Amino acid sequence: MESLGILGGGQLGRFFTISAQKMGYSVIVFDPDDKSPAGKIANKHICKPYDDLDALDELKDSCRSVTTEFENIPAETLRYLEKHIIVRPSSETVSIAQNRIKEKDFLKRCGMPVGNYVVIDTIESINNLDSNKVLIFPGILKTAKFGYDGKGQINVNNKVELEAAFIAFNSVPCTLELKLDLDGEFSVVLARSIDGQFIAYPVIQNHHEVGILDVSFVSGIDSEGEQSTCIPLAKKVANELNYIGVMAVEFFMSQGNLFVNEIAPRPHNSGHFSIDACVYNQFDQQVLTLTGNKPRNEEMQFPKSAMLNILGDLWFREGRLIEPKFEMISGPGVILHLYGKNEPRKGRKMGHITVLGLGGETGKEILQRVEELRKILWEN
Ligand code: ADP
Ligand code: MG
Repeated sequence: MESLGILGGGQLGRFFTISAQKMGYSVIVFDPDDKSPAGKIANKHICKPYDDLDALDELKDSCRSVTTEFENIPAETLRYLEKHIIVRPSSETVSIAQNRIKEKDFLKRCGMPVGNYVVIDTIESINNLDSNKVLIFPGILKTAKFGYDGKGQINVNNKVELEAAFIAFNSVPCTLELKLDLDGEFSVVLARSIDGQFIAYPVIQNHHEVGILDVSFVSGIDSEGEQSTCIPLAKKVANELNYIGVMAVEFFMSQGNLFVNEIAPRPHNSGHFSIDACVYNQFDQQVLTLTGNKPRNEEMQFPKSAMLNILGDLWFREGRLIEPKFEMISGPGVILHLYGKNEPRKGRKMGHITVLGLGGETGKEILQRVEELRKILWEN
């Protein structure tokens, strides 16, 4: 049985493992956490740090190709593996996506609309900042590396707050971005094969709460014209990167203008609807493109779908640890996914619920259903 490797053993790695095993592959998960959700179901779990060369040798000797589930894997780890086996996406691509400065510069270079930003890497760069010339306040200071789910971000309204935030981040390189007045957020999840074959799922509408994805909705219908604008932009980004694998591009809509926010070189939380709504989900596409195959049909079997994230916060109601009553989550088209994480923590993604439109429902009705389910979880 051919083996596939994945660096990172969180929920994205777990869904990849399920897809790969379904297609007959054996999966080796590489993750330093001995309780990782993917490690628990993998055929083999190499539980070592990402810079452990002996462990990486073990991985390269036991599989032909490797992918990643998150962009914070050290690019050097991918570079090392790339010398011996197939690594998709490439270390080059991951090194761009894991550094906001490189990422913004890249997006600008390939002609993407990006919001105002400047690089803040020294106190001088703050002193030299001429906020009369660049509209940058109110802004968000974001660490260039290791940010996710809104972590590594501080809102700043002026230079004094900016300096304090920069120092709070130990003066690591950052981007300072203009905080946009958001009318909406969207994402495109796409897959691209080695010969440039491309598919994209319908544009996903996203709602975040304090920097973390809360609800996603897919109608598959181009009511606002996002399909025709976002998908070609996402395709251009993938082509410019000569991307092989699954990728997500996040967009902001602000005062009628569309901006590219960031790219994720992997399946994306907002693409989880595809697990239940599509014949081939985003993790199937990850396996297909990793193994040199074409991506497959991205069509939705269910025309409308919404997803509600379940965060660890749900366990901490009324100031004590309460196990949620997941048995109450049921109904036609309602599907609960739990990731098998050992310990709930605030802000930690523990699972999600998909609500499928089985026919005839309006988007509003599906989103109302999501809110009813949220209420059931929080009030019981
Ligand atoms: P992460 O890597 O944590 O996903 P993002 O840059 O995507 O970082 O930020 C997370 C969320 O914070 C976004 O989805 C959006 O809701 C909000 N946000 C980030 N940057 C901006 C901005 N420049 N203007 C307005 N909202 C923003
Ligand atoms: Mg984001």
